[in-house]
Amino acid sequence: DSEKHSRQQNNIESNARTYSRTINKLIVSGKGSVVTDAEGLEYLDLLSCAGTLALGHRHGEITQVLKDYLDSDHIMQGLDILTPAKYDFTQQLLSVLPQALREQAKIQFCGPTGADAAEAAIKLLKTATGRRTVFAFHGGYHGMTAGALALTGNLTAKQHVASLMPDVHYFPFPYEYRSPYGVRGEALTSVSLCHIESVLADPESGITKPAAIILEALQGEGGCIPAPKEWLQGLRDICTRYDIPLVLDEVQSGFGRTGQMFAFEEAGIIPDAILMSKAIGGGLPMSVVVYKEKYDKWQPGSHAGTFRGNQMAMVSGCKTMEIIKRDNLCQAAAEKGKYLKDKLLRLQQKYPEIGDVRGRGLMLGIEMIKPDSDNAAADGELAKEIKKTCFLEGLIVETGGRHGAVIRLLPVLTIDYDEINKAVRILEYSIKLALK
Ligand code: PMP
Repeated sequence: DSEKHSRQQNNIESNARTYSRTINKLIVSGKGSVVTDAEGLEYLDLLSCAGTLALGHRHGEITQVLKDYLDSDHIMQGLDILTPAKYDFTQQLLSVLPQALREQAKIQFCGPTGADAAEAAIKLLKTATGRRTVFAFHGGYHGMTAGALALTGNLTAKQHVASLMPDVHYFPFPYEYRSPYGVRGEALTSVSLCHIESVLADPESGITKPAAIILEALQGEGGCIPAPKEWLQGLRDICTRYDIPLVLDEVQSGFGRTGQMFAFEEAGIIPDAILMSKAIGGGLPMSVVVYKEKYDKWQPGSHAGTFRGNQMAMVSGCKTMEIIKRDNLCQAAAEKGKYLKDKLLRLQQKYPEIGDVRGRGLMLGIEMIKPDSDNAAADGELAKEIKKTCFLEGLIVETGGRHGAVIRLLPVLTIDYDEINKAVRILEYSIKLALK
């Protein structure tokens, strides 16, 4: 085995993906929040495949339903064919939607990734409205394929492929900590909404009414930035008044992560379409767009895709949703998240380099800064250094946001309090070491 492992370890060098460049170990097993490398070293995983593993690595019940399914006579792939697995999955998904949406929900199964859901939603809403522009936000992240990338409000990622992009207009996201308008709270909410509405209300603005406004209620890759709930409510109101479909990307924040089933629920709003992926497949690839019936303008064949009938993902996804409800994991995420956030806020008191602590539930981030600089400059180098030390000490975290200065924590929803304490200990040790 060790010879095989050493061959496999060498292969890591040829892997182009960034995760494997920083997590440069051969991971041979995992359980819950913990993964183990070929040398037997354990790592507490506070990334959870970018929030995908709501129930952790190798959850016993998920493994079991998958084994049972393999042992049954049911089919593995089904395109759009109705199967018992698809029926159960659909019923389960409808049951976790807000009541007001459930009654008018249509479900589009997409290709296996979050980006596929973004592509499908925009295509559908352009078809349904006959409009060609889309409004998106700075720091928003919706995937890496051409259409999804166009919606992503991060210039670096798309500078070489801009010619592929559809017509998207970006607005500043209400980033309280670094408010682009120099105002915060209610004032930021009003200024930001006013900016959007003034574009819509002015026929001479040069920007036509969009087919959709797309956003994350709590930006993930953008640096763990929660939208104020009044802002979300205001945006909902604008969308209603101007008859613009409001699309919430819950690919990362959905399925309990923020302490509610979906992050938009905190604001009490109902979107017109929701993008879902990651946790919805219970660890297997799947994505879905849920949208209001009135936008159901697909003709047969309008939107194809071979791998949207992955039965195994429906089986593990269905069980995952069942367990999230049964074990009250939304509430658990809220409570554990509060516990973890309090600890991070305590670290902030001790280290002026922690400029901001933010997020909800188990979707948290700390923004590292140069405390003596003008405007508390983001310190991506420091965040990178901390992440590196964390890994050497047995803790997996990710960085994100402007300049990569935000350390992002996305633990599995089943993490326990001892593991949280241990993660914070390693994080503090790594901060101290990086500041030396
Ligand atoms: N939307 C959001 C909010 C995401 O966080 C991500 C992935 N990080 C995506 C879309 C794209 O998902 P995928 O990587 O599966 O294409």
